[in-house]
Amino acid sequence: MKKNLKSATLCVQGGWKPKNGESRQVPIIQSTTFKYDNTEEMADLFDLKKEGYFYTRLANPTNDAVASKIAALEGGIGAMLTSSGQAANFYAIFNICSAGDHFVTSNEIYGGTYNLFGVTLKKLGIECTFVNPNASEEEIQAAFRPNTKALFGETISNPGCKVLDIEKFAHIAHKNGVPLIIDNTFATPINCRPFEWGCDIITHSTTKYMDGHATQVGGCVVDSGNFDWDAHADKFPGLCTPDESYHGLTYTKAFGKMAYMTKLVAQLMRDLGSIPAPQNAFLLNIGLETLHLRMAQHCKNAQRIAEFLHDDPRVAWVHYSGLKDDPCHALAQKYLPNGSCGVLAFGLKGDRNAAIKFMDSLQLVSIATHVADAKSCVLHPASHTHRQLSDKQLHEAGIDPDLIRLSIGIEDVEDILDDIKQALDKM
Ligand code: PLP
Repeated sequence: MKKNLKSATLCVQGGWKPKNGESRQVPIIQSTTFKYDNTEEMADLFDLKKEGYFYTRLANPTNDAVASKIAALEGGIGAMLTSSGQAANFYAIFNICSAGDHFVTSNEIYGGTYNLFGVTLKKLGIECTFVNPNASEEEIQAAFRPNTKALFGETISNPGCKVLDIEKFAHIAHKNGVPLIIDNTFATPINCRPFEWGCDIITHSTTKYMDGHATQVGGCVVDSGNFDWDAHADKFPGLCTPDESYHGLTYTKAFGKMAYMTKLVAQLMRDLGSIPAPQNAFLLNIGLETLHLRMAQHCKNAQRIAEFLHDDPRVAWVHYSGLKDDPCHALAQKYLPNGSCGVLAFGLKGDRNAAIKFMDSLQLVSIATHVADAKSCVLHPASHTHRQLSDKQLHEAGIDPDLIRLSIGIEDVEDILDDIKQALDKM
């Protein structure tokens, strides 16, 4: 098959290459185990001397086919599926940070990630410093310490819809000898490929656009293979010194560019679990087959709704990087030239009750703790997803308490617009 296939082709045909007479669709290998004829073959698999399947927690053919498709879409050298986006972000950090380590993260990130980083990882002895992604390089640099092991951000933040200056973040990370990890959930590789801007590791909540139909919760970690771990061996002993649990094997020596990926699977997934069911990977793959078509329609619909809200006198503010006067418009033109995503954030004039009245009056657009799928939905983060954050933390995370997050689906935009208009009229 031709190399460098375009994204649309990869969405439809990437990952699974059936041999003569094999199933055209990715088969669901819903099996925990795989049979071998002799002891040695299985032993070689355990010792990572050969590639093959022996237990689904470590690798499964359905999961691998779908992970390969996502790796190809992102332009990475390998990917691992996880059972949720939360697990993907946890694994991406935990693969290179252990107790006593520190990392720096944008404060404009999903609330669940904010808690994972600020509370749960802290209990494991891993500290992080939240920084304003729009701060100057010098200000962000000030958050780095000798034990800092990574820099993290979201391409388009959830729920603030702010666009990350990826090159700026990559420059800061590399100046400090650490990788840049980016959660590319909202943009998807259809609208942004962060590796092309210097990012080293990408995570996804595949629960969102990649699945696109709200059928499975899942995640993915993708490696560019570009970060030189050995050049900073003192910072990354887990990759650059022998692993006792693999007979003294050193990942960078044994696997070169695949070191981070191999450790992720062979050590973290082995010890912590959280693989997706092959059935879920299959559903995710069905979603991926139309990702390129859906993203274009999400962006087209969201642009129209953003422009309407922007001009409506009842609306106090709108954040959508496709709007010409949006503070992130210039960054979006650079990093998201084909469109950002279907999610926008806005606030209504009036008190908190105005938001509640508006949301309760919507009929087609449903109130749902979800975002980024085919059906339009709405959420008030301060009372839903981010309710565990204090007002101070909400502000730090770039979330106004009046922020309404609207996830524009792929229904006919006139119907979505009519629903929003009638709900505004009831306020
Ligand atoms: N990252 C982002 C940007 C998200 O929006 C979410 C969930 O909303 C997650 C990670 C967590 O993903 P999941 O819900 O699949 O665990």
